[in-house]
Amino acid sequence: MNKVDSTLKSVLEDWPEASYNLLATIWSNNGKLKAEHNRALCELLECNLGQLMTALLPLAESFSLASTSGFKVGAVAMGNTVSNDGMADLFLGANIEFPNLPLDTTIHAEQCVSVVTLQHGQRISSLAVSVTPCGYCRQFLYEFSDAQPLPVSIGKNSVTDLNALLPKAFGPIDMGIAETSTLNLSINLNELSDTTSAFEDLAKTAAKSAYSPYSNNNAGCVISLTNGNSYLGRYLENAAYNPCINPFAAAICVARVSEIDFDFSAVEQCTFVESQENISLQSQIKMLLNACQPKAVFNTATLGR
Ligand SMILES: [Zn+2]
Repeated sequence: MNKVDSTLKSVLEDWPEASYNLLATIWSNNGKLKAEHNRALCELLECNLGQLMTALLPLAESFSLASTSGFKVGAVAMGNTVSNDGMADLFLGANIEFPNLPLDTTIHAEQCVSVVTLQHGQRISSLAVSVTPCGYCRQFLYEFSDAQPLPVSIGKNSVTDLNALLPKAFGPIDMGIAETSTLNLSINLNELSDTTSAFEDLAKTAAKSAYSPYSNNNAGCVISLTNGNSYLGRYLENAAYNPCINPFAAAICVARVSEIDFDFSAVEQCTFVESQENISLQSQIKMLLNACQPKAVFNTATLGR
């Protein structure tokens, strides 16, 4: 049995083996399960899309890298491109803790799945999480979800929505930003990472698609791994500032859901680009890269206006 099948068998014990070929596409599609595959999975499991999302939570949890807490959290998001029969793409994510670094560098599962969904050019229209979202994630989701209110199912039985979880929310409008219209989803960053463009060009493309209405610092990066694969990440800001996702963390999220054997030490280089408008993320990115792999090469460039 190959690595993919044995992984699936260990986390989705009751699933028929006929589902494995469909599920294996998660890794090759950068954390995405296409609508057509979800339709087939629903038929196979005799369930609806919402039930499929909940059933996929153990697989999402298996993406967790929780070296400090040992506490695995999984999240499954439904994209906002929905076909006539109600089928949609699904995206998976999990919590990721940077080894040996402070707790506040942690990427929460809801952030990870948001990054993965946005990176595929979609917004979240429904979410399933394995445990109750923390306050930080409620704040983060508020700015990036598509549905109003965002349906949220927690574990196996609890269904609620983001308005109930975050009443009287603080958001972009309180900071003088009318809406998240500056969020550019016209580019599928995962498709770009397959190109042979120079790292700096890729990082610049990622930086141009950053969502940074509070600092105006457009930042992006490309990381490459020892196996030759590379992943892009864009900077995502939040009205409450702290739940921001830096571009390196975003690239790590996508690498994690794309590589069945992902390991931090496999990061070989990072090319980071920012417009250095008001703030700079450079020292933060350098610190994160150094924690993953001290030997990794760090390249930087400035994004011209
Ligand atoms: Zn959280």
